[in-house]
Amino acid sequence: MIDICTIINHLRPVSRCLLCSGISGLATICQACHDELPWQAGSACPVCALPTTQGEVCGSCLQHPPSFDATYAALAYTYPVDAMLRRYKYAGELSLAHALAELMAHRLRSLDALPELLIPMPLHPDRLRSRGFNQATEISRSLSGLLGISLAAPACRRNRDTAPQAGLSPDERRRNLRGAFSCEMDLKGRHVALLDDVMTTGTSLTELANAVRKAGATRIDCWVVARTLKD
Ligand SMILES: [Zn+2]
Ligand SMILES: [Zn+2]
Repeated sequence: MIDICTIINHLRPVSRCLLCSGISGLATICQACHDELPWQAGSACPVCALPTTQGEVCGSCLQHPPSFDATYAALAYTYPVDAMLRRYKYAGELSLAHALAELMAHRLRSLDALPELLIPMPLHPDRLRSRGFNQATEISRSLSGLLGISLAAPACRRNRDTAPQAGLSPDERRRNLRGAFSCEMDLKGRHVALLDDVMTTGTSLTELANAVRKAGATRIDCWVVARTLKD
């Protein structure tokens, strides 16, 4: 006779780990792979999340304070995170949005002050049409559910489809993006988090933060899945 536990075990869905294809139970990533991910753990500049010796504000943020107040990156943009993000963005593996949001939630749920609103980095409508989805919005949607924070997806707009940022110098990046965003929502007195998949130089997030600051936000955090450590 088959007992009830055997039947239940057979009915339970068995997932394969996204990274090693081993059996991961109900999780998207198995415990061993999860533990080995390049978590952003060491001392870092609280403003831009680049490593500093004792967690002090870095020289660049002291010289040119960006318009956001803090940055939280879950992971470093190295293997296998870079490969996961490419699969998600360019191969359209949309199911990865939830897995990436879970990794962010793991890192962010213990923060003292959670923001009231999540604002995903907007894509220009032309880019949205060709990609079919906004990578930051999909992660934000899952994260909003996991952490119980409201999502303000249409709050901001990207007004120009700017040239790709890769390969440009920091000055060229700034010129390329100046005034590229606008924000139509009244954010007076609000604590918000701007969400993006990767932070490289932080130029896009700085420009978006300028628009959000103009709309009245008093505290602006940047939440990113991964931080590029060297440009
Ligand atoms: Zn695994
Ligand atoms: Zn910094």
